[in-house]
Amino acid sequence: MRGTLKIKVNKKEAIEKFVERDFNAIPTEWVRTVIDHLPDLEGEASAPLPMWGTMWIMNFKQWGEKLYESSEVVEECDKHKDNDGHSCIKCDSYDEEMLGARNVVVEDEHGTHSTAIYIYDINGEYVIGVNGAGWNFYDGVWDKLYDFFGLEWHKQEIERGDK
Ligand SMILES: [Zn+2]
Repeated sequence: MRGTLKIKVNKKEAIEKFVERDFNAIPTEWVRTVIDHLPDLEGEASAPLPMWGTMWIMNFKQWGEKLYESSEVVEECDKHKDNDGHSCIKCDSYDEEMLGARNVVVEDEHGTHSTAIYIYDINGEYVIGVNGAGWNFYDGVWDKLYDFFGLEWHKQEIERGDK
C-alpha cells in the first residue's frame, strides 16, 4: 500500500520558521540613523530605542498593525509609586529608560501583561525591538509573538505523497 508521509515540526522549529519568514533583522544603529534623518518626528518614532543591538522590520504590514494595536505607550502611572501592591499594565511595563516607547502587551495563560518587546512605526514600516540582553529570545519574544498571532504550525501535519 502506498501511503503518505506526514511531516510534523515541533513548536521550536515552527517558531524558527516564523521568525525567518516574518522578520528582517537590522542593526539598531541603522534604525537610529534613519530616525535621525526623518523630519518632524512625532510620538513613538522619537521615543528611546531598546538596548539590544538588533531590531526587526516586520514583513507583513497587517501583522505589524495588529501588534501595534496591542501596544501601550510606556508612561508613569499615577499610582506607580504606591507600594501597596497596586499593579496595572502601566506599572507592569514601566521602564524609565523606555518612557514614550510602545510596549507590546500580550494575553496568555498568565493574563494580560507587558513584554520586553517594543514596536515603532517608522515612516510606515513596523519595526520591533527588545529591551533586554543576555537571554534567549526564543523564550519570551519569538514564542510570545508566535502565540500572539495564533499560529499553530506545530499542530499541523504537512502531507507528502510517496514518490
Ligand atoms: Zn499602575
